[in-house]
Amino acid sequence: MATSVLTKTAAKGGSFLLESPSPQDVFTPADLSDDQKLIGQTAEEFVLKEVLPLAKELEAKKPGLMAELTRKAAELGLMSGGTPEEYGGAGLDKVAATMLTEKIAMYGGFAVTHGAHAGIGTLPLVYFGTEEQKKKYLPKLASGEFIGAYCLSEPQAGSDAQNLLTRAELNKEGTHYILNGQKMWITNGGFADLFIVFAKVDGEKLTAFIVERTFPGCKPGNEEHKMGIHGSSTTPVFLENCLVPKENVLHEIGRGHIVAFNVLNAGRFTLGASCVGGSKYVLMTASKYSKERKAFGKQIGDFGLIKEKLAEMAIRIFAVESMIYRSAGYMEAAMAAAAGSGNKAQNTMKALEEYAIESSIAKVYGSEMLDFVVDEAVQVFGGYGFHEDYPVCRAYRDSRINRIFEGTNEINRMLIIQMLMKRALGGQLPLIPAAMKLADEILAGPSFEETPEGVLAEEARIIANAKKMFLQAAGGAMQKYREKLAEEQELIAALANIVMEIYAMESSLLRAQKAAAAKGETAAAVMIDAVRVFIADAAERVDHEAKRAIAAVHEGDMLTTQLAVLRRFGKRPVVDTIAIRRRVAAAIQAQDRYPFEGR
Ligand SMILES: Cc1cc2nc3c(=O)[nH]c(=O)nc-3n(C[C@H](O)[C@H](O)[C@H](O)COP(=O)(O)OP(=O)(O)OC[C@H]3O[C@@H](n4cnc5c(N)ncnc54)[C@H](O)[C@@H]3O)c2cc1C
Repeated sequence: MATSVLTKTAAKGGSFLLESPSPQDVFTPADLSDDQKLIGQTAEEFVLKEVLPLAKELEAKKPGLMAELTRKAAELGLMSGGTPEEYGGAGLDKVAATMLTEKIAMYGGFAVTHGAHAGIGTLPLVYFGTEEQKKKYLPKLASGEFIGAYCLSEPQAGSDAQNLLTRAELNKEGTHYILNGQKMWITNGGFADLFIVFAKVDGEKLTAFIVERTFPGCKPGNEEHKMGIHGSSTTPVFLENCLVPKENVLHEIGRGHIVAFNVLNAGRFTLGASCVGGSKYVLMTASKYSKERKAFGKQIGDFGLIKEKLAEMAIRIFAVESMIYRSAGYMEAAMAAAAGSGNKAQNTMKALEEYAIESSIAKVYGSEMLDFVVDEAVQVFGGYGFHEDYPVCRAYRDSRINRIFEGTNEINRMLIIQMLMKRALGGQLPLIPAAMKLADEILAGPSFEETPEGVLAEEARIIANAKKMFLQAAGGAMQKYREKLAEEQELIAALANIVMEIYAMESSLLRAQKAAAAKGETAAAVMIDAVRVFIADAAERVDHEAKRAIAAVHEGDMLTTQLAVLRRFGKRPVVDTIAIRRRVAAAIQAQDRYPFEGR
C-alpha cells in the first residue's frame, strides 16, 4: 500500500518564527494524492462500518472485541502505516500515515488503541530494532497476530519518566535480563502480546526491552476504571522476575531515553492528527442535531448563538488541520531528501526530530481544540448532550485524556521553548541575531508601512508583527533570566502560547492563499472568511500573552517603552467576526459537515 510521495520544500524545524514561506511551499489537504485520499477513505469506512456500530459493546469492554477489530483493521493495512513494506507493513509516506490516523479517530477508544499499537508500540522496533528483531516482530505486529503496547509510565513516574524504578539485572548465565517493577496506565495492556518495556539495568542505565506477554513473570493487571475512552484497554503491567532474552534489548543499554523520547515525539504529532479526525466527526453530529432540535418554534441551528458555535468549531479545526498537513509535508519532504543515503529508519527519525517543535505544537493545540469542540457540541445538544445515549457525551469524556498523555500539555509547552532555545543557542536557528535586529528596529522608531495588497495581506502583516512580538518578549526573557529561564514556567508557557498561535495563524493563512491562487478568491471565499476570524482572535491572544510575558520581564520606564512598542506591533483593523462566522456556519449547515475537507 505504498503511496506516491509529494515532494515539497522542507523548511527547518522552528524556522516559521523567522521566515515567511510562499503558499506554494506548504503542503495542504488540497495537495493530497488520490492514493493518500484512498487510505483516508478506507480508514473512515472501516470505523463507520465496523467500529462505530459496536460502540456500545466496546464501551462495555466486551471481551475480545477490541482485539478482534484491531486484527480486522490490520488485515486492511490500517495498523501498520509506519512499518516498511519489507516487514509486512503498509509502508505509508508521512502524509498518508497522517491521513490514516486522522480518519481512524472518529471513535476515541479505537483511536487510542490504534495509536498504542501502530505508533508507540510498533515504532520503537521500526526505528531502533536490529534486523533480526524487525524480522521477528514487525510482520506479526503488522498483520495483527501480535498487538503492541508501550510501557514507560510507573505509579510514581509519569511526566518524570526518567525517575522510573523498574530494574533489569543480567542473570548469572548471562542469557537473560531479569525485570522487576510495575508499569502503570498501559494502553492495550489487557490484550497486547508485545510490550516495549523501559527499565534500568542495574538500577541505573535506562534501557528498552522487547517483552512478550508469554515471557515468565510478565503479568498484566486488571482494567483501570477511567473517565473516558472506555473502549480502550488500560492496565498496569507487573514484572515479577520477568525473564527477557538478552537479544531482546532494544537499541543500546543506557540509551533507553533515546528510544522513549523519539517515539513519544512521533506519537505527539499523531495525536494532533487524531484530534482533527475526532473533531470533524463531532462537528458533523452537532450540525445535524441543530437541524433536528426545535425551540421557540425554530430549529436551534437558526439561532445566532448556535451558528456561532458551529462556525468556531470549524474555524479551529481548520487551523489545526492546516498545521498538521503543513508539518506532515515538511516531514515527508525531509525524509524524501534523505532517501538513498544512510539507514531509512534513522532518516525517518531524524526528520521527525527536526520537527519536534511542530509535533509538540500539534499535540497541545490539537488536544485543546478538540476539548473546545466537544464542549461546544455538548452545549448544542443541551441536556441530551449530558446523556450517555448521545455520542457527544462520550466524545466529551474521551477527549480529556489527550491533554494528559504523550507528555502533558504543560510539559509540551515547556518543551517547545526549551527546544527553540537549544536551537537558538546551538546556532541552528538564528533567533538571537533576529532578536538583535529587531532591537535595532525598535530603537530606530516607527517606519512608514505601505498598505498591504493581495488576498489576506492585512492578516499576513499581523502575523509578521506577531513574530516580532515573540522576538521582543522572548529576547527580553532570555536576557533577563539566561540559563535560569527554565525556572520561569509561567513565562515559558506564555511564550509557547505565542509560538503556537503564530504557527496556527500562518498555516491557516498560507492554505487559504494557496486555495485562492488555485481556484480563485470566490471559490475560496469561506476559507478566507474562516482565516480572517481565526487571525483576528488569535492576534488578540498573542497580544495578551506578549503583554503578560513583557510585564514579567521589565519594570518602570523600560516596561512603559516595551508596552508602547508592543502596541505598535499590535495595531490592526477591527474585523466583523459576527457576520463572518454566520457565513462560515451557513457553509457547515449546507452540508452538515466540516466545510473545508480536502481543500
Ligand atoms: C488512559 C491513559 C493511557 C495511558 N497510556 C500510556 C501508555 O500506553 N504507556 C505509558 O507509558 N503511559 C501511558 N499513560 C501515562 C501518561 O503518559 C501519564 O499519565 C502522563 O505522562 C502524566 O504523568 P502522571 O499521570 O504521572 O502525571 P504527573 O507527572 O504526576 O503530573 C501531574 C500534573 O503535574 C504537572 N507536572 C508534572 N511535572 C511538571 C513540571 N516539571 N512542571 C510543571 N508541571 C508539571 C503535569 O503537567 C500534570 O498537570 C497513560 C495514561 C492514561 C491516563
